[in-house]
Amino acid sequence: MSVGDCIFCKIVSGSIPSHRVLETDSCLAFLDAAPLAPGHCLLIPKQHYTTLEELPEDVAAAVLGQLPALGRAVRAVTGAAGYNVLQNTGRVAGQEVMHVHVHVIPRVAGDGLGYRWHTKSLEDAAAEALRNRIAAALRG
Ligand code: 5GP
Ligand code: ZN
Repeated sequence: MSVGDCIFCKIVSGSIPSHRVLETDSCLAFLDAAPLAPGHCLLIPKQHYTTLEELPEDVAAAVLGQLPALGRAVRAVTGAAGYNVLQNTGRVAGQEVMHVHVHVIPRVAGDGLGYRWHTKSLEDAAAEALRNRIAAALRG
């Protein structure tokens, strides 16, 4: 998909409307058009990147640096007791819009939102092998 077809790039440019709540030089937050709760916001870099993994460190820092203030504002205004910060990377994880974005989803007790984690056990030997491989991958 080209940037020209990207719905969030169109929101950034203003060619399709949105309810903007926050804007900086490099990022934008606006209300989700199909909210899971009142005040559900999406925070995005203005520049098009498909996934979180593509973000240069400075862009990631600039975008994620807005989260505390956005969370405080959303919680204050909605009266939510808390919120979930959700970031879907890849279709298998539920990413539908291929312009990286972070959800801020206000939560109140008994709202019926949530997820079921089918947790697995972590054996020491397997954990150490995984740790070694991930640490090595990070070193490049
Ligand atoms: P994803 O499933 O990719 O993590 O989340 C995409 C989110 O974008 C969904 O929650 C969806 O409601 C929201 N969304 C999709 N199209 C639009 C749009 O045109 N405007 C706004 N404000 N939100 C959108
Ligand atoms: Zn885009």
